Amino acid sequence: MPLFIHNSLTGKKEEFVPLVPGSVSMYVCGITAYDYSHIGHARAYVAFDVIYRYLRYKGYDVTYVRNFTDIDDKIIKRANESGHDTRALSEEFIGKFHEDMDALGILRPTAEPRATDTIPQMITLINTLFDKGYAYKAGDDVAFSVKKFSGYGKLSGKKIDELESGARVDVDDKKQDPLDFILWKAAKPGEPAWESPWGKGRPGWHIECSAMSGSILGDTIDIHGGGKDLVFPHHENEIAQSEAATGKPFVRYFIHNGFVNIDSEKMSKSTGKFFTVRDIRKQYHPEVVRLFLLSVQYRNPVDFSEKNLRDSGEALNRLYTTKARIFEAAHNTAAARQGGPVPREVQDAVSAFSAGFQEAMDDDFNTALVLGRLFDLSHLLNRFLDVQKDTPETGRASLIAEWETIAGALDVLGILGRDPEAYFSEVKGLRFTDTALNSQDIERLIAERNAARKAKDFKRADAIRDELAESGVVLEDGPGGTTWKPK
Ligand SMILES: [Zn+2]
Repeated sequence: MPLFIHNSLTGKKEEFVPLVPGSVSMYVCGITAYDYSHIGHARAYVAFDVIYRYLRYKGYDVTYVRNFTDIDDKIIKRANESGHDTRALSEEFIGKFHEDMDALGILRPTAEPRATDTIPQMITLINTLFDKGYAYKAGDDVAFSVKKFSGYGKLSGKKIDELESGARVDVDDKKQDPLDFILWKAAKPGEPAWESPWGKGRPGWHIECSAMSGSILGDTIDIHGGGKDLVFPHHENEIAQSEAATGKPFVRYFIHNGFVNIDSEKMSKSTGKFFTVRDIRKQYHPEVVRLFLLSVQYRNPVDFSEKNLRDSGEALNRLYTTKARIFEAAHNTAAARQGGPVPREVQDAVSAFSAGFQEAMDDDFNTALVLGRLFDLSHLLNRFLDVQKDTPETGRASLIAEWETIAGALDVLGILGRDPEAYFSEVKGLRFTDTALNSQDIERLIAERNAARKAKDFKRADAIRDELAESGVVLEDGPGGTTWKPK
Protein backbone atom coordinates (compact mmCIF):
# COMPACT_ATOMS: atom_id res chain seq x y z
CA MET A 1 0.00 0.00 0.00
CA PRO A 2 1.35 3.45 -0.83
CA LEU A 3 2.36 5.80 1.96
CA PHE A 4 0.99 9.34 1.90
CA ILE A 5 2.88 12.14 3.62
CA HIS A 6 1.82 15.73 4.17
CA ASN A 7 4.55 17.68 2.40
CA SER A 8 5.07 21.21 3.79
CA LEU A 9 6.55 22.22 0.43
CA THR A 10 3.21 21.79 -1.32
CA GLY A 11 0.83 21.89 1.64
CA LYS A 12 -0.65 18.62 0.39
CA LYS A 13 -0.66 14.95 1.23
CA GLU A 14 1.42 13.26 -1.44
CA GLU A 15 2.33 9.69 -2.24
CA PHE A 16 5.81 9.02 -0.90
CA VAL A 17 8.24 7.98 -3.65
CA PRO A 18 11.90 8.01 -2.60
CA LEU A 19 14.59 9.16 -4.99
CA VAL A 20 16.27 5.75 -4.94
CA PRO A 21 13.76 2.87 -4.85
CA GLY A 22 13.93 0.94 -1.59
CA SER A 23 16.00 3.43 0.35
CA VAL A 24 15.21 6.63 2.22
CA SER A 25 17.45 9.50 3.29
CA MET A 26 16.09 11.49 6.22
CA TYR A 27 17.49 14.49 8.05
CA VAL A 28 15.96 15.95 11.22
CA CYS A 29 17.27 19.10 12.89
CA GLY A 30 18.72 18.28 16.30
CA ILE A 31 19.11 20.20 19.52
CA THR A 32 21.38 23.06 20.45
CA ALA A 33 23.22 21.36 23.30
CA TYR A 34 23.37 23.84 26.19
CA ASP A 35 20.47 22.79 28.46
CA TYR A 36 18.12 19.93 29.33
CA SER A 37 15.69 18.86 26.62
CA HIS A 38 12.07 19.88 27.06
CA ILE A 39 8.76 18.28 26.18
CA GLY A 40 8.80 20.01 22.76
CA HIS A 41 12.00 18.11 21.89
CA ALA A 42 10.44 14.88 23.13
CA ARG A 43 7.44 15.47 20.89
CA ALA A 44 9.53 16.09 17.77
CA TYR A 45 11.94 13.20 18.29
CA VAL A 46 9.22 10.70 19.23
CA ALA A 47 7.30 11.74 16.09
CA PHE A 48 10.33 11.25 13.83
CA ASP A 49 11.28 8.06 15.67
CA VAL A 50 7.90 6.57 14.74
CA ILE A 51 8.31 7.80 11.15
CA TYR A 52 11.78 6.21 11.04
CA ARG A 53 10.47 2.96 12.50
CA TYR A 54 7.49 2.86 10.13
CA LEU A 55 9.64 3.42 7.04
CA ARG A 56 11.79 0.49 8.15
CA TYR A 57 8.64 -1.57 8.86
CA LYS A 58 7.64 -0.93 5.24
CA GLY A 59 10.96 -2.40 4.15
CA TYR A 60 12.93 0.74 3.34
CA ASP A 61 16.62 0.96 4.05
CA VAL A 62 16.63 4.27 5.96
CA THR A 63 19.63 6.49 6.59
CA TYR A 64 18.56 8.83 9.36
CA VAL A 65 20.73 11.82 10.31
CA ARG A 66 20.05 14.06 13.30
CA ASN A 67 22.63 16.71 14.13
CA PHE A 68 23.88 18.43 17.24
CA THR A 69 24.43 22.16 17.22
CA ASP A 70 27.42 22.39 19.54
CA ILE A 71 28.51 25.97 18.88
CA ASP A 72 26.32 29.09 19.01
CA ASP A 73 25.66 32.23 21.08
CA LYS A 74 23.65 30.44 23.77
CA ILE A 75 26.30 27.75 24.23
CA ILE A 76 29.07 30.35 24.47
CA LYS A 77 27.07 32.40 27.00
CA ARG A 78 26.22 29.35 29.14
CA ALA A 79 29.80 28.06 28.99
CA ASN A 80 31.17 31.43 30.12
CA GLU A 81 28.67 31.57 33.01
CA SER A 82 29.55 28.09 34.22
CA GLY A 83 33.29 28.32 33.60
CA HIS A 84 33.29 25.37 31.17
CA ASP A 85 34.64 25.38 27.68
CA THR A 86 31.95 25.12 25.01
CA ARG A 87 32.95 21.61 23.92
CA ALA A 88 32.69 20.22 27.48
CA LEU A 89 29.35 21.95 28.04
CA SER A 90 27.80 20.71 24.81
CA GLU A 91 29.14 17.17 25.33
CA GLU A 92 27.56 17.14 28.80
CA PHE A 93 24.15 18.09 27.44
CA ILE A 94 24.46 15.72 24.47
CA GLY A 95 24.92 12.98 27.08
CA LYS A 96 21.84 14.12 29.00
CA PHE A 97 19.87 14.36 25.76
CA HIS A 98 20.75 10.74 24.96
CA GLU A 99 19.66 9.61 28.44
CA ASP A 100 16.26 11.29 28.03
CA MET A 101 15.68 10.12 24.46
CA ASP A 102 16.83 6.55 25.21
CA ALA A 103 14.37 6.48 28.13
CA LEU A 104 11.57 7.51 25.76
CA GLY A 105 12.45 4.55 23.56
CA ILE A 106 13.74 6.76 20.73
CA LEU A 107 16.12 4.82 18.50
CA ARG A 108 19.51 6.37 17.82
CA PRO A 109 19.72 7.71 14.25
CA THR A 110 22.20 6.29 11.74
CA ALA A 111 24.46 9.32 12.23
CA GLU A 112 24.54 12.16 14.76
CA PRO A 113 27.07 14.66 13.41
CA ARG A 114 28.25 17.59 15.51
CA ALA A 115 28.52 21.00 13.86
CA THR A 116 32.09 21.56 15.07
CA ASP A 117 33.17 18.29 13.43
CA THR A 118 31.78 19.48 10.08
CA ILE A 119 33.57 22.85 9.75
CA PRO A 120 35.60 21.87 6.62
CA GLN A 121 32.38 20.83 4.80
CA MET A 122 30.77 24.17 5.76
CA ILE A 123 33.77 26.09 4.46
CA THR A 124 33.61 24.18 1.15
CA LEU A 125 29.89 24.97 0.88
CA ILE A 126 30.41 28.68 1.61
CA ASN A 127 33.23 28.77 -0.96
CA THR A 128 30.84 27.37 -3.57
CA LEU A 129 28.30 30.06 -2.62
CA PHE A 130 31.01 32.71 -3.17
CA ASP A 131 31.88 31.18 -6.56
CA LYS A 132 28.24 31.28 -7.62
CA GLY A 133 27.71 34.84 -6.41
CA TYR A 134 25.36 34.16 -3.48
CA ALA A 135 27.82 34.83 -0.63
CA TYR A 136 29.56 38.11 0.12
CA LYS A 137 31.70 39.68 2.80
CA ALA A 138 29.64 41.74 5.22
CA GLY A 139 32.30 43.50 7.25
CA ASP A 140 34.26 40.64 8.84
CA ASP A 141 31.32 38.26 8.51
CA VAL A 142 30.05 36.37 5.47
CA ALA A 143 26.40 36.74 4.44
CA PHE A 144 23.99 35.10 1.99
CA SER A 145 22.19 37.30 -0.49
CA VAL A 146 18.54 36.23 -0.18
CA LYS A 147 17.31 38.20 -3.21
CA LYS A 148 19.74 36.39 -5.50
CA PHE A 149 17.96 33.10 -4.79
CA SER A 150 14.77 33.17 -6.82
CA GLY A 151 13.06 30.34 -4.94
CA TYR A 152 13.22 32.11 -1.60
CA GLY A 153 9.96 31.70 0.35
CA LYS A 154 8.80 28.53 -1.39
CA LEU A 155 8.52 26.56 1.86
CA SER A 156 7.10 29.19 4.20
CA GLY A 157 5.01 30.96 1.55
CA LYS A 158 6.57 34.27 2.61
CA LYS A 159 7.08 36.95 -0.05
CA ILE A 160 10.30 38.96 -0.29
CA ASP A 161 8.37 42.28 -0.38
CA GLU A 162 6.43 41.49 2.78
CA LEU A 163 9.55 40.34 4.58
CA GLU A 164 11.33 43.49 3.46
CA SER A 165 8.72 45.82 4.92
CA GLY A 166 8.79 43.98 8.26
CA ALA A 167 12.56 43.72 8.48
CA ARG A 168 14.41 45.43 11.30
CA VAL A 169 17.48 47.33 10.17
CA ASP A 170 20.43 47.44 12.54
CA VAL A 171 22.49 50.61 12.41
CA ASP A 172 25.82 48.83 12.42
CA ASP A 173 24.60 46.11 10.09
CA LYS A 174 27.14 45.40 7.37
CA LYS A 175 24.71 43.28 5.34
CA GLN A 176 23.62 44.55 1.92
CA ASP A 177 20.03 43.76 2.75
CA PRO A 178 18.33 43.21 6.12
CA LEU A 179 16.87 39.91 4.82
CA ASP A 180 20.31 38.43 4.24
CA PHE A 181 21.59 35.99 6.81
CA ILE A 182 25.01 35.18 8.20
CA LEU A 183 26.92 32.16 6.88
CA TRP A 184 30.12 32.76 8.83
CA LYS A 185 30.63 34.90 11.90
CA ALA A 186 33.99 36.56 12.58
CA ALA A 187 35.52 35.61 15.93
CA LYS A 188 35.10 37.92 18.90
CA PRO A 189 37.77 37.95 21.61
CA GLY A 190 37.49 34.98 23.96
CA GLU A 191 35.17 32.98 21.69
CA PRO A 192 35.99 29.59 20.19
CA ALA A 193 37.01 30.07 16.57
CA TRP A 194 38.08 28.08 13.53
CA GLU A 195 40.40 29.04 10.68
CA SER A 196 38.71 29.93 7.39
CA PRO A 197 39.52 31.75 4.14
CA TRP A 198 37.69 34.76 5.68
CA GLY A 199 39.65 34.78 8.92
CA LYS A 200 38.98 33.10 12.24
CA GLY A 201 35.36 32.62 13.09
CA ARG A 202 32.48 30.20 13.49
CA PRO A 203 29.57 29.05 11.35
CA GLY A 204 26.09 30.55 11.30
CA TRP A 205 23.33 28.21 12.41
CA HIS A 206 21.66 27.50 9.06
CA ILE A 207 24.80 26.52 7.15
CA GLU A 208 25.41 23.63 9.57
CA CYS A 209 22.38 21.67 8.46
CA SER A 210 22.99 22.22 4.74
CA ALA A 211 26.59 21.03 5.16
CA MET A 212 25.84 18.05 7.41
CA SER A 213 22.91 16.90 5.32
CA GLY A 214 24.72 17.35 2.01
CA SER A 215 27.96 15.71 3.10
CA ILE A 216 26.28 12.61 4.56
CA LEU A 217 23.08 12.18 2.54
CA GLY A 218 23.88 13.87 -0.78
CA ASP A 219 22.53 16.90 -2.62
CA THR A 220 18.87 15.82 -2.62
CA ILE A 221 17.32 14.13 0.38
CA ASP A 222 13.97 12.38 0.62
CA ILE A 223 12.73 13.66 3.98
CA HIS A 224 13.68 16.67 6.05
CA GLY A 225 11.97 17.13 9.37
CA GLY A 226 11.69 19.34 12.38
CA GLY A 227 9.23 21.30 14.48
CA LYS A 228 6.88 23.81 12.83
CA ASP A 229 8.89 26.62 14.41
CA LEU A 230 11.81 25.73 12.10
CA VAL A 231 9.95 26.41 8.84
CA PHE A 232 11.03 30.04 8.85
CA PRO A 233 13.73 31.18 8.73
CA HIS A 234 15.78 28.01 9.40
CA HIS A 235 14.47 25.61 6.77
CA GLU A 236 13.84 28.37 4.24
CA ASN A 237 17.48 29.39 4.59
CA GLU A 238 18.71 25.80 4.37
CA ILE A 239 16.86 25.43 1.05
CA ALA A 240 18.37 28.68 -0.26
CA GLN A 241 21.94 27.70 0.64
CA SER A 242 21.75 24.11 -0.56
CA GLU A 243 19.90 24.75 -3.81
CA ALA A 244 22.00 27.81 -4.65
CA ALA A 245 25.13 25.69 -4.23
CA THR A 246 24.04 22.48 -5.99
CA GLY A 247 21.41 23.69 -8.45
CA LYS A 248 19.35 20.64 -7.42
CA PRO A 249 16.23 20.29 -5.27
CA PHE A 250 17.34 20.03 -1.63
CA VAL A 251 14.40 18.14 -0.14
CA ARG A 252 11.58 16.06 -1.65
CA TYR A 253 9.30 15.94 1.41
CA PHE A 254 9.43 18.40 4.28
CA ILE A 255 7.69 17.12 7.42
CA HIS A 256 6.91 19.44 10.35
CA ASN A 257 5.47 18.40 13.70
CA GLY A 258 3.01 20.53 15.66
CA PHE A 259 3.61 22.40 18.91
CA VAL A 260 3.19 21.29 22.50
CA ASN A 261 0.82 23.41 24.56
CA ILE A 262 0.90 23.31 28.34
CA ASP A 263 -2.57 23.35 29.89
CA SER A 264 -3.84 24.72 26.54
CA GLU A 265 -1.35 27.60 26.54
CA LYS A 266 1.72 28.12 24.42
CA MET A 267 4.82 26.59 25.98
CA SER A 268 7.03 29.31 27.43
CA LYS A 269 9.85 29.44 29.95
CA SER A 270 8.87 32.92 31.11
CA THR A 271 5.30 31.99 32.13
CA GLY A 272 6.39 28.76 33.82
CA LYS A 273 4.51 26.75 31.18
CA PHE A 274 7.59 24.69 30.58
CA PHE A 275 8.77 21.18 31.42
CA THR A 276 12.04 19.38 30.91
CA VAL A 277 11.94 15.71 29.98
CA ARG A 278 14.06 15.08 33.07
CA ASP A 279 11.45 16.56 35.42
CA ILE A 280 8.58 14.79 33.69
CA ARG A 281 10.39 11.48 34.06
CA LYS A 282 10.41 11.92 37.84
CA GLN A 283 6.62 11.76 37.81
CA TYR A 284 5.64 9.62 34.85
CA HIS A 285 7.00 6.46 33.32
CA PRO A 286 8.69 7.41 30.00
CA GLU A 287 6.48 4.96 28.13
CA VAL A 288 3.44 6.86 29.46
CA VAL A 289 4.93 10.06 28.04
CA ARG A 290 5.54 8.32 24.73
CA LEU A 291 1.97 6.99 24.58
CA PHE A 292 0.68 10.47 25.43
CA LEU A 293 2.72 12.07 22.62
CA LEU A 294 1.45 9.50 20.12
CA SER A 295 -2.18 10.02 21.13
CA VAL A 296 -2.29 12.98 18.73
CA GLN A 297 -1.36 12.86 15.02
CA TYR A 298 2.09 14.47 14.68
CA ARG A 299 0.97 17.61 12.82
CA ASN A 300 -1.66 18.63 15.40
CA PRO A 301 -0.89 20.50 18.61
CA VAL A 302 -0.66 18.27 21.66
CA ASP A 303 -1.89 19.51 25.03
CA PHE A 304 0.36 18.59 27.92
CA SER A 305 -1.68 18.56 31.11
CA GLU A 306 -1.80 16.51 34.27
CA LYS A 307 -5.16 15.10 33.25
CA ASN A 308 -3.95 14.01 29.81
CA LEU A 309 -0.83 12.41 31.29
CA ARG A 310 -2.92 10.64 33.90
CA ASP A 311 -5.28 9.36 31.19
CA SER A 312 -2.32 8.03 29.21
CA GLY A 313 -0.94 6.39 32.36
CA GLU A 314 -4.22 4.64 32.99
CA ALA A 315 -4.50 3.61 29.35
CA LEU A 316 -1.02 2.10 29.40
CA ASN A 317 -1.76 0.25 32.64
CA ARG A 318 -4.82 -1.25 31.00
CA LEU A 319 -2.84 -2.30 27.92
CA TYR A 320 -0.14 -3.94 30.04
CA THR A 321 -2.82 -5.65 32.13
CA THR A 322 -4.25 -7.11 28.93
CA LYS A 323 -0.81 -8.28 27.87
CA ALA A 324 -0.21 -9.83 31.29
CA ARG A 325 -3.55 -11.63 31.19
CA ILE A 326 -2.86 -13.04 27.72
CA PHE A 327 0.52 -14.44 28.71
CA GLU A 328 -0.60 -15.75 32.10
CA ALA A 329 -3.72 -17.34 30.70
CA ALA A 330 -1.66 -19.40 28.30
CA HIS A 331 0.46 -20.86 31.06
CA ASN A 332 -2.26 -21.42 33.60
CA THR A 333 -3.35 -24.92 32.83
CA ALA A 334 -2.34 -27.84 30.70
CA ALA A 335 -5.77 -27.75 29.12
CA ALA A 336 -5.16 -24.20 28.01
CA ARG A 337 -1.88 -25.13 26.38
CA GLN A 338 -3.49 -27.93 24.44
CA GLY A 339 -6.62 -26.02 23.49
CA GLY A 340 -7.71 -25.23 19.98
CA PRO A 341 -7.62 -21.97 18.12
CA VAL A 342 -9.13 -18.83 19.52
CA PRO A 343 -12.63 -18.03 18.27
CA ARG A 344 -13.10 -16.48 14.85
CA GLU A 345 -14.26 -13.21 16.41
CA VAL A 346 -10.90 -12.73 18.13
CA GLN A 347 -8.88 -13.73 15.07
CA ASP A 348 -10.85 -11.29 12.94
CA ALA A 349 -10.37 -8.48 15.43
CA VAL A 350 -6.61 -9.04 15.49
CA SER A 351 -6.27 -9.08 11.70
CA ALA A 352 -8.55 -6.05 11.43
CA PHE A 353 -6.22 -4.22 13.79
CA SER A 354 -3.17 -5.10 11.69
CA ALA A 355 -4.83 -3.92 8.48
CA GLY A 356 -6.13 -0.80 10.22
CA PHE A 357 -2.67 -0.08 11.56
CA GLN A 358 -1.13 0.08 8.08
CA GLU A 359 -4.04 2.02 6.69
CA ALA A 360 -3.76 4.67 9.42
CA MET A 361 0.03 4.88 9.26
CA ASP A 362 -0.02 5.13 5.46
CA ASP A 363 -2.31 8.12 5.89
CA ASP A 364 0.40 10.52 7.11
CA PHE A 365 1.38 8.48 10.19
CA ASN A 366 -1.93 8.73 12.06
CA THR A 367 -0.86 7.25 15.38
CA ALA A 368 -3.95 8.67 17.11
CA LEU A 369 -6.17 6.44 15.00
CA VAL A 370 -3.90 3.43 15.55
CA LEU A 371 -4.08 3.86 19.33
CA GLY A 372 -7.86 4.13 19.24
CA ARG A 373 -7.95 0.81 17.40
CA LEU A 374 -5.48 -0.72 19.85
CA PHE A 375 -7.68 0.23 22.82
CA ASP A 376 -10.68 -1.36 21.08
CA LEU A 377 -8.72 -4.54 20.47
CA SER A 378 -7.51 -4.63 24.06
CA HIS A 379 -11.09 -4.25 25.27
CA LEU A 380 -12.24 -7.14 23.09
CA LEU A 381 -9.37 -9.37 24.25
CA ASN A 382 -10.27 -8.65 27.88
CA ARG A 383 -13.88 -9.60 27.27
CA PHE A 384 -12.70 -12.82 25.66
CA LEU A 385 -10.41 -13.55 28.63
CA ASP A 386 -13.31 -12.95 31.03
CA VAL A 387 -15.34 -15.60 29.24
CA GLN A 388 -12.36 -17.92 28.91
CA LYS A 389 -12.02 -18.05 32.67
CA ASP A 390 -14.96 -20.48 32.63
CA THR A 391 -13.94 -22.46 29.58
CA PRO A 392 -10.20 -22.99 29.75
CA GLU A 393 -10.24 -25.73 27.14
CA THR A 394 -10.61 -23.24 24.23
CA GLY A 395 -6.93 -22.70 23.61
CA ARG A 396 -5.36 -19.67 25.16
CA ALA A 397 -1.91 -20.46 23.83
CA SER A 398 -3.13 -19.52 20.39
CA LEU A 399 -4.07 -16.19 21.88
CA ILE A 400 -0.36 -15.47 22.36
CA ALA A 401 0.23 -16.37 18.73
CA GLU A 402 -2.50 -13.88 17.78
CA TRP A 403 -0.93 -11.20 19.99
CA GLU A 404 2.44 -11.83 18.40
CA THR A 405 1.06 -10.96 14.98
CA ILE A 406 0.69 -7.35 16.15
CA ALA A 407 4.21 -7.21 17.63
CA GLY A 408 5.55 -5.40 14.54
CA ALA A 409 2.90 -2.70 14.86
CA LEU A 410 3.60 -2.26 18.57
CA ASP A 411 7.29 -2.01 17.80
CA VAL A 412 6.65 0.85 15.34
CA LEU A 413 4.79 2.69 18.10
CA GLY A 414 7.53 1.69 20.54
CA ILE A 415 5.06 0.64 23.23
CA LEU A 416 4.16 -2.55 25.11
CA GLY A 417 7.57 -4.05 24.48
CA ARG A 418 8.29 -4.50 28.18
CA ASP A 419 7.49 -7.50 30.27
CA PRO A 420 4.30 -6.50 32.14
CA GLU A 421 5.82 -7.43 35.51
CA ALA A 422 8.81 -5.22 34.78
CA TYR A 423 6.58 -2.37 33.64
CA PHE A 424 4.40 -2.50 36.76
CA SER A 425 7.40 -2.64 39.04
CA GLU A 426 8.99 0.33 37.19
CA VAL A 427 5.91 2.52 37.58
CA LYS A 428 5.75 1.87 41.32
CA GLY A 429 6.85 4.97 43.18
CA LEU A 430 6.00 7.24 40.26
CA ARG A 431 2.93 9.37 40.19
CA PHE A 432 -0.49 7.91 39.27
CA THR A 433 0.71 4.40 39.73
CA ASP A 434 -2.03 3.49 42.19
CA THR A 435 -3.76 1.56 39.40
CA ALA A 436 -0.60 -0.37 38.76
CA LEU A 437 -1.21 -3.67 40.54
CA ASN A 438 0.22 -6.51 38.56
CA SER A 439 -1.94 -9.47 37.81
CA GLN A 440 -0.13 -11.71 40.30
CA ASP A 441 -0.96 -9.24 43.08
CA ILE A 442 -4.55 -9.20 41.91
CA GLU A 443 -4.85 -12.99 41.82
CA ARG A 444 -3.29 -13.18 45.30
CA LEU A 445 -5.80 -10.65 46.67
CA ILE A 446 -8.68 -12.52 45.07
CA ALA A 447 -7.48 -15.74 46.72
CA GLU A 448 -7.24 -13.92 50.06
CA ARG A 449 -10.74 -12.56 49.60
CA ASN A 450 -12.10 -16.02 48.78
CA ALA A 451 -10.48 -17.37 51.93
CA ALA A 452 -12.00 -14.53 53.99
CA ARG A 453 -15.44 -15.22 52.53
CA LYS A 454 -15.13 -18.92 53.30
CA ALA A 455 -14.24 -17.99 56.89
CA LYS A 456 -17.26 -15.64 56.91
CA ASP A 457 -14.94 -12.66 57.49
CA PHE A 458 -17.03 -10.42 55.22
CA LYS A 459 -15.46 -7.25 56.57
CA ARG A 460 -12.04 -8.36 55.34
CA ALA A 461 -13.50 -9.63 52.04
CA ASP A 462 -15.16 -6.26 51.37
CA ALA A 463 -12.00 -4.39 52.33
CA ILE A 464 -10.06 -6.35 49.69
CA ARG A 465 -12.74 -5.65 47.08
CA ASP A 466 -12.56 -1.92 47.91
CA GLU A 467 -8.78 -1.92 47.82
CA LEU A 468 -8.82 -3.45 44.35
CA ALA A 469 -11.51 -1.04 43.17
CA GLU A 470 -9.35 1.87 44.28
CA SER A 471 -6.55 0.44 42.19
CA GLY A 472 -8.78 0.33 39.15
CA VAL A 473 -9.63 -3.37 39.29
CA VAL A 474 -13.24 -4.53 39.20
CA LEU A 475 -14.21 -7.97 40.55
CA GLU A 476 -17.06 -10.05 39.24
CA ASP A 477 -18.35 -13.05 41.16
CA GLY A 478 -19.87 -15.71 38.94
CA PRO A 479 -20.70 -19.40 39.10
CA GLY A 480 -17.20 -20.24 37.81
CA GLY A 481 -15.50 -18.18 40.53
CA THR A 482 -14.26 -14.61 40.70
CA THR A 483 -12.96 -12.83 37.63
CA TRP A 484 -11.43 -9.36 37.36
CA LYS A 485 -11.02 -6.67 34.79
CA PRO A 486 -9.56 -3.19 34.67
CA LYS A 487 -12.07 -0.47 35.51
ZN1 LIG B 1 18.51 22.38 10.80
